[in-house]
Amino acid sequence: MLAYKTGKDFAIELDKNDELASYRNQFHIPKDKNGNNLIYMTGNSLGLQPKSTKEYIDQELNDWAELGVEGHFEAKNPWLGYHEYLTKKMANVVGAKPIETIVMNTLTVNLHLMMVSFYKPTKTRYKILIESDAFPSDKYAVESQLRHHGFCDKEGLILWKPRYGEELLNYDDLETILKQQGDDIALILLGGVNYYTGQFFDLKRITSLGHEYGCLVGFDCAHGAGNVKLDLHDSGADFAVWCSYKYLNSGPGSLAGCFVNEKHAHRKDLNRFTGWWSHNKATRFTMRDEFDQLPGAEGWQLSNPPILSMAAIKASLDMFEEVGMDKLVEKSKKLTGYFEFLMKQLGEDAIRIITPENPDERGCQLSIQVKKADKSLHKRLTASGVISDWREPDVIRCAPVPLYNSFQDIYNLVERLKEILT
Ligand SMILES: *Cc1c(COP(=O)(O)O)cnc(C)c1O
Repeated sequence: MLAYKTGKDFAIELDKNDELASYRNQFHIPKDKNGNNLIYMTGNSLGLQPKSTKEYIDQELNDWAELGVEGHFEAKNPWLGYHEYLTKKMANVVGAKPIETIVMNTLTVNLHLMMVSFYKPTKTRYKILIESDAFPSDKYAVESQLRHHGFCDKEGLILWKPRYGEELLNYDDLETILKQQGDDIALILLGGVNYYTGQFFDLKRITSLGHEYGCLVGFDCAHGAGNVKLDLHDSGADFAVWCSYKYLNSGPGSLAGCFVNEKHAHRKDLNRFTGWWSHNKATRFTMRDEFDQLPGAEGWQLSNPPILSMAAIKASLDMFEEVGMDKLVEKSKKLTGYFEFLMKQLGEDAIRIITPENPDERGCQLSIQVKKADKSLHKRLTASGVISDWREPDVIRCAPVPLYNSFQDIYNLVERLKEILT
């Protein structure tokens, strides 16, 4: 364990010794009106733009201008198989096999497509278990699936809740729910990392537990992908979905990722929605054949995909490939550990950190409850040049991202917070 120190010189020293420090220069850092860098702590909401993204997109714009439809075959990166350039890189980020991984659609769309295949309710086993503080879109999606199958969304939803006075979820409680109601539950759908508390769940443990009771298990890894080591394949999960615009720095609303466990790769019995892009690539363009489903996660695609969005994803994934998740997570733990250390100097009367203390049970985000605070604190913090996220009634969420946040960012952030609080 690194022994952290409080002074500014220590932050400077940490930056000097940081092997990944140069990556910060490869991003556009938002600035205030006077041209000073803002302290950007919302990579968990929209990751910053790599400077290379423009080049990657320009390449496709130029090829489109010069080649028109021929770009599908003649572009420098022929568009026809463009998603394939992303598959292995994305698989490595989330710890999956290429056959299990596809970049397509957007997150909530993928969640629905996955539930078409993996939410298979019967009269007696139809309920869906989610975290009580699930991201709203996930909750709405799940409720609409229940209604779509003719069930009451209130009765059909089982919530895994924190204990009274706590925020984090306890695995013993999940076990109790499954012991009591496991036979009623068709699907367990949880965030890989909870968006609010930053709690990183033990995907493998949850999956084994769910499977033991005959439930299918899926994860929404929007806050996990590019942030923690998800090891999706080893987790045994049936499916997972995530977006690319948070920690994966691929631009607002960019395409999402989807994981389908290898064990389902060749199943023809699974119900699914299909389109021409789920059809065998070799005969796709003869257009007359009976449907011939592609194996693996690719077989869940519907449409020919937006190349401009994929170009942005490629720019980002090339950087992730160069760095690798191991080094990224190593720096992330140091950065967040340092943040936690400095915050704790403020004292328990001023703040309480909700996020788990164990570095293996969290990513880079710290959710901080500020005692006696209201939204004016967030306003003042923003005015001081810190971009953070506020959640009523009194929690700020900050996510120091190892690719572009520095140790001095953290030092300056805590100094500004101190000034506002005292
Ligand atoms: C960000 C996020 C979403 C957003 O869904 P979109 O379909 O990309 O708009 C959904 N679920 C979770 C858990 C998220 O963190």
